[in-house]
Amino acid sequence: MSKNKSSESVKVVVRCRPLNRKEESNGPAGGIVQMDLRLGQVILRNPRAPPSEPQKTFTFDAVYDANSKQRDLYDESVRPLIDSVLAGFNGTIFAYGQTGTGKTYTMQGAWLDPEKRGVIPNAFDHIFTHISRSQSDKQYLVRASYLEIYREEVRDLLDPNHGNARALELRESPETGVYVRDLTSCVCKSIKEIEEVMNVGNQARAVGATDMNEHSSRSHALFLITVECSQPGPDGRKHIRVGRLNLVDLAGSERQAKTGVQGERLKEAAKINLSLSALGNVISALADGRSGHVPYRDSKLTRLLQDSLGGNAKTVMVATLGPSSQHYDETLTTLRYANRAKNIQNQPRVNEDPKDALLREFQREIARLRAQLNHRKWRSKQKKEQVDGEGWDRDGDEETEGEEEEEEEDVEKDAEEYVKLEEQRLEREKEAIREDQFLLAEEKQRLLGEKERMMGDLRKEQEATEQLTAKYKAMESKLLVGGKNIMDHTNEQQKMLEIKRHEIAEQTRSEREMQQQMLVQDEETLELRETFTSLQQEVEAKTKKLKKLYAKLQCIKAEIQDVNDEHVRSRQELEQTQNELTRELKFKYLIIENFIPPEEKNKIMNRLTFDPEEDQWKFQPLVPAESKSSQMKKRPASAVGYKRPISQYARVAIAMGAHSRYRAENIMFLELDMAPPNTATLDRSTEADPNQSPSMDNSPAKDKGICKSRSWCQTPKSITSSSSNVSLAACHTATSTAAQ
Ligand code: ADP
Ligand code: MG
Repeated sequence: MSKNKSSESVKVVVRCRPLNRKEESNGPAGGIVQMDLRLGQVILRNPRAPPSEPQKTFTFDAVYDANSKQRDLYDESVRPLIDSVLAGFNGTIFAYGQTGTGKTYTMQGAWLDPEKRGVIPNAFDHIFTHISRSQSDKQYLVRASYLEIYREEVRDLLDPNHGNARALELRESPETGVYVRDLTSCVCKSIKEIEEVMNVGNQARAVGATDMNEHSSRSHALFLITVECSQPGPDGRKHIRVGRLNLVDLAGSERQAKTGVQGERLKEAAKINLSLSALGNVISALADGRSGHVPYRDSKLTRLLQDSLGGNAKTVMVATLGPSSQHYDETLTTLRYANRAKNIQNQPRVNEDPKDALLREFQREIARLRAQLNHRKWRSKQKKEQVDGEGWDRDGDEETEGEEEEEEEDVEKDAEEYVKLEEQRLEREKEAIREDQFLLAEEKQRLLGEKERMMGDLRKEQEATEQLTAKYKAMESKLLVGGKNIMDHTNEQQKMLEIKRHEIAEQTRSEREMQQQMLVQDEETLELRETFTSLQQEVEAKTKKLKKLYAKLQCIKAEIQDVNDEHVRSRQELEQTQNELTRELKFKYLIIENFIPPEEKNKIMNRLTFDPEEDQWKFQPLVPAESKSSQMKKRPASAVGYKRPISQYARVAIAMGAHSRYRAENIMFLELDMAPPNTATLDRSTEADPNQSPSMDNSPAKDKGICKSRSWCQTPKSITSSSSNVSLAACHTATSTAAQ
């Protein structure tokens, strides 16, 4: 298992769709895009330029014109990539281009027409055909996920409540690189199942958007397939290779008009192109090769495609063009973009035995279930042996690993037989008990009950075994084993036909590569081959060369001018956006300064934290995450006999003398005075006790002989509670002396 560490560049192919009806009716201008399929060149004509101006030529790994077939594009440009994924590499295909140029057509196509099926359905076919034709010692696990990035939020398209689901977070791990947390992934056992997954996702995408076209041209759709393959290595152990395939249908690359939009619309406009412009920046930075920093973190899309651009992956970019002269600028931008992407170098390598391989877990779980099941069945079998007494025709002595598979079915049969026999036996015994006339009725009942219980146990045991078997089978069926016919069209002829087609595709590709190389070499060796017989000849040759070089110079000058213009344009746009954002910011500041009290502002500021993972400022939750279950901190329980929580110190203080300070009780003591009322002995003439308040003295309550409940502050002798430095002991003595 060799690890390929060499780098390879991103493959870029260009496809131009046919003129549509509307464009055809617009006039005879025709297309502005010409293609040289043999050389892999696109020649672009500027409809506004004078005819003397040289046309722009771009060279790519392959080009596909309006007559190209889906199948050809797949066989030539995508098939090798999918083969690599099946061998354990990461692979990415992304379609880039203006809205309406055929990105979705290329990626998905028309599902029902076999001729028009796009890259994704062809890839499904390819993967499952490959599995069905591989050797039987290979085990596969295929998983699929589907997500979209809309307004810089990652949404799971397989989540049943996609519409109101939370945006998902991106995480990074050293093993798998950047991944989406909590993303649904479905194990698929056949083409039909994976197509179903795709359909579910597509529907969610359509439902989520009011205007499908508008939505799809503003969101990026990523279909992810993980193929895990386990195969015994030379060391006898099973090795797992994991290939991840990203199939990406990007949002339309056209510039969204930003002029005159404000607030929410501005934010949206800024976000729509954020991912795409970030992608452009990443591609530029990588293609340039000199700048150390690659701004992957600028957008969700570039983070997710981090491995695909300049990392551990093989990548194919399909740039789609429209032939109409109206979109010359956009077409040129797409071609420039694609041209730049050619220079990106990736370092693909086989992902071997990663720690997080799901296949490994599945294998372990299956082995565990099988062991459990076998144990149960052996137990039943052994019981049968005991019951029969006579032993079995097949003796299950010591089993070796190899025999296990064959024996397993026998054991299963034996176990079933055992259950049947055991039931019959119990039935017979019950019958015998019923017919036994020497037994007492009570004894009979008891014995019958016992047999009934035994039968119940037996049934329960059987049910449990059946459940376990079902679980085991379900688990096992998820793993696809090579060599088994999961396809119905694997006959030899078809296979041969496919192989021939691949060979042709391969040949075309290498031919084109050779042509391109020859072209380059021609130019280089032109000078060397020339020998001049006369001065005149030399002058002629050199003039020709001069003309050629002059044309080239003009081309490059025009290119520089174009690039400059583009820079100026995008700079103006950025400035405009900046102005709008600055205005927005000032407005927000104004609101904060004038309408939010400073302490509230501080509170808000204190809750802000920076999340380095998401590269964003976030609010800390008001309630700490760890106490989420109980929401709020629980109030400490009151000590028994007290209405409020009370400290040890206060408790001691109360015990020592009812110091008011430590009374954690109600204000009033509702002590019932059980002394009999003594209305008769009241003497009005007696001098008022100086200790008693005059109001008390004349209170009507006293008149009526009602004793008011005492307040706690009327304890026998009040202590000056203000003297805080009075020690507890002092308090105690003071109270006791007062009581005396
Ligand atoms: P995009 O996804 O880039 O916005 P679509 O894939 O939706 O564009 O294509 C727009 C229209 O053009 C569709 O009706 C599609 O059928 C048609 N189309 C695109 N490419 C081709 C092609 N190569 N051959 C024929 N029709 C095409
Ligand atoms: Mg589309």
